[in-house]
Amino acid sequence: MSGPLESIVPLQNALDQLHAAEEQLNGIPEWMSELHGEHSERLAEIAKLEEAVEAARAERRSAEGEIADAQEKLKRYQQQINQVSTQREYGALLHEIDTMKRQIQSCEELGLAAMESREQAEKDLEEQRQAFADLDQRYKTELEKWEAEKPAVAERIERLNGTVATLRERLSPGVLSQFNRLFERHGGHPLAAVRLADSSRDQRMWHCGGCNYRVRPQSVVEIRTSGSIVLCDSCKRVLFLPPEQEAEG
Ligand SMILES: [Zn+2]
Repeated sequence: MSGPLESIVPLQNALDQLHAAEEQLNGIPEWMSELHGEHSERLAEIAKLEEAVEAARAERRSAEGEIADAQEKLKRYQQQINQVSTQREYGALLHEIDTMKRQIQSCEELGLAAMESREQAEKDLEEQRQAFADLDQRYKTELEKWEAEKPAVAERIERLNGTVATLRERLSPGVLSQFNRLFERHGGHPLAAVRLADSSRDQRMWHCGGCNYRVRPQSVVEIRTSGSIVLCDSCKRVLFLPPEQEAEG
C-alpha cells in the first residue's frame, strides 16, 4: 500500500491510541475500578442515611410544632367551657376538645416514631462510617498509586500527539481535510477494513468491514495499487486492506 492510505491507516491507529490514553488519564484505571465502584456505592449509602437522619429530625420537629398548636387550641377550648350557655354549645366544645386530645396523641406517636427511626438511622450511619474508614483508606492508597502512574500516561499522550502531527503533515491539505471531515462524520471511526468473504466459487467477493456492503473488485485493485482514498459505496468509510489481504494477489 502506498499513497495517502499509507499515512491514513497509521494516523487512525495513533488517534485511536491517543483517545484511549486520554480516556485513561481522565478516568479511573481498570485495576482500581472495582474499588472505585465499591467506594462510590458506600458513599452513596452514607449520604442516604444522613438524609434519613435529617428527614426524621424534620418529622419530629413538625410533630412537635403540631402538638404545640393543638395544645394551644385545647387550652382555649377548656377556658371557654365556663362561658357556654347552651347544651348544644357545650356538646360542640366537648367534641372539639376531644378532637384536639386525639390529635395531640397521634402527633406524639408520630414524633416518637420519628425519634426511633432517627436513632436507628444514626446507629446504622455510625456503623457504615466505621466500616467505610478502612475502605476509604485503601481507596486513598490506590488513588495515590494511580497519581504516580499518571505522568507515564501523560508522556504517552505527548508522544502520540507527536506521531499524529507527523502523519498529518504527510497528507496533502485536500486529503487531510477530507480525512478530518470523515473522522467527524463517523464519530472518530472513519476507516473500514476490506474483508474477503469465504467463497467456494472462483470469483472472489470483498465486503466492507464496517457495513458488510459489497466492495467492487476494481476498488480493491485501486486501493492495493495506488493507496488512494476509496469510500465504501454504502457507509462512506475509507476502505483499507488489512496486512493479510494486502499481501494476496
Ligand atoms: Zn461500508
